[in-house]
Formats: sequence, structure tokens, C-alpha cells
Amino acid sequence: MGRALEKVAIVYSTNYEINMAGLEKLHPFDIHKYAKIYLQLQTDGYLRPDDVFVPEPLSKEQILLVHTDEFCRSLKDPQRVAQYLEMEIVAKVPTKMVDAGFLSSFRWASGGTIMAGREALEYGIAINIGGGYHHAKPDAGEGFCVYNDLAIAIRALQKDGLIQRACVVDLDVHQGNGTAVIFASDDNVFTFSMHQRDIYPIPKETSDWDIELAAGTTDEVYLSLLQEVLPAVLEQAKPQIVFLQAGCDTLESDPLASLAMTPSGIARRDALVIDACVSRGIPVVITLGGGYGPQAWKTQYDSIARTIDKYGLAGAGRAYQRRSPTAKEKFYTK
Ligand SMILES: [Zn+2]
Repeated sequence: MGRALEKVAIVYSTNYEINMAGLEKLHPFDIHKYAKIYLQLQTDGYLRPDDVFVPEPLSKEQILLVHTDEFCRSLKDPQRVAQYLEMEIVAKVPTKMVDAGFLSSFRWASGGTIMAGREALEYGIAINIGGGYHHAKPDAGEGFCVYNDLAIAIRALQKDGLIQRACVVDLDVHQGNGTAVIFASDDNVFTFSMHQRDIYPIPKETSDWDIELAAGTTDEVYLSLLQEVLPAVLEQAKPQIVFLQAGCDTLESDPLASLAMTPSGIARRDALVIDACVSRGIPVVITLGGGYGPQAWKTQYDSIARTIDKYGLAGAGRAYQRRSPTAKEKFYTK
């Protein structure tokens, strides 16, 4: 184990963008979060389109590594998809549009998590600018999650004989309940979730290790707790790869939760996990997860930029110059 030089692989496709003729704006999710981060990384000279690892969308076979046949059939019913996305209006949209506008985006972003797993094994660190759909269970989606990309990626890497053991470090403010259910009786996959106690999902499922936080938890309390338990998590899990669900809905400004972290606290949190993995020679995948407020995209952008600053970009021989934003970059990131 252990590489001479860890680098950061960035995984993304413009196909991650949800496009439902404006309907998507009815959800509190900042639907352009992924594109904003991708475009700002270019403006600031962190990457060029050629540097990006572009995934394939999930295949049916990959979906069936985790989900049931019945679940796949349910995706043809707009009413069921509306429940998974918590968007009533989707129930009235024709099946084909639901698939092209929403489900296809999730399949691309989830395929990105599989690719990030492969690239993390190669380069040490891989960031999917999307993914982290941790509420999805084998037989149903929930909480704006359809396919559980974290679980599918782990099963895909196992199937290819690339890993046996994995650990999911889920730091989204909501419990990774779907992931917990999927791996409940699997000794090869350790699930760790640190989340707010008194919000969705209620009741909680049982991860291998859950830490419940009170409303109002600050950077200082959060980070010292994480620093204390993370070595023990990795020691128990003995993973060959870590999947970090780096949701930034732990921010004080998040509209759906009430922890009290700052943007710089989130960057320190992500760095703590990434550095802990790198120092132990464990490949690490970062997925974006939740984060719905006005500060969300910039907070996750800052964390990604800091990671590239520290470790360097996979494949790129040199740093690029910061340049003026294009019209499209201005439009999204203003
Ligand atoms: Zn969340």
C-alpha cells in the first residue's frame, strides 16, 4: 500500500445537469451546484476540460448490483419517482421526460462515482463533482436520492476484483440510512455516519458506527470529535478504499438542517478525512452529497480547490493561469 505521490482525479460530465424545463427549480436543491463548481475550477485555472475523467452512465447491470428488479420497474411510474425526489409535480410528468430529465442525470453522476473509485485506486484521490445519494435503498429511493451510487460503486469494484473491503465515511448532515441498510449484514463494508440527531431520516437506521449531533454543533466541537474517532473508524474498517460523502448541509446557513459549521470548517473537515486516508495509503473517493443553501457550491468548491492545491491534479503537468470567466461561467457562478 501507499503511493509515491497522490494526485487528485476530477470526475465529471455535463450530463450530470438536471434539466426538466424549469420544474427542477421547484426543489430546494441548488440544481446547478455541480456545473458551478466545474466551471469555477476552470476559471481559476485548476483544470481544463481535457483533464476531466468523463464517466459512463450506470448500466442496468450495475444498478442491479444493489437495487431490486421491482425498484427498476418502479422508475417507469412517475408517481413513485415523485416520491423518491419528494417533488409532487413530477407525478404529472410523462415517464419518458422523467427519465430523460431526472433519472438520466442521476445515472451519469452515479456512473461518476464508479469511475472515481477506479481512479482513486490509480491516483490516490478522486473527486466526483456529484454523487453521494446515500438515502437510496435496494427497493426504493427517498430524500432526493434514486440510485445509491456509493453502494453501487463499491459492489462494482468488488465485482471487478479490485477491492474486497471498503468504508463509507458519511458526513452529510443527514444519516446515510440507505447505505446503512444495504451493507447492514456485510462485514466487508463498514458504514460510518455522523449526522444531526433530530432531523430526517426519522427513525434512523443502524450504521456500523453512528454519531448523532445536537442542533447548533460548531466547527470546534465537530472537528475535534471527528479527529478523535476517525482513526478508530479506519482501524475497525480496515478498508482498501474510502468513500467520503462530503455533504455540506452541516453549514449554519443550510435551510434544511441546523448545525452551525462555517465554510472553512467544512474544508478542514474534508481535509481531515482525505489526509487521514492518504497518510495510511488508503485511496479515497469524495462525493458531494447534500448542501442546499446559497453558500453550498462555493463551500464545496473551496474544499476541492484546497485539495488540488495540496496534492496536485492527476494528469496535468503544470498549473494553469487564472483567466476571465466566459459568458457561461459568469452566468452560472455569479
Ligand atoms: Zn443531506
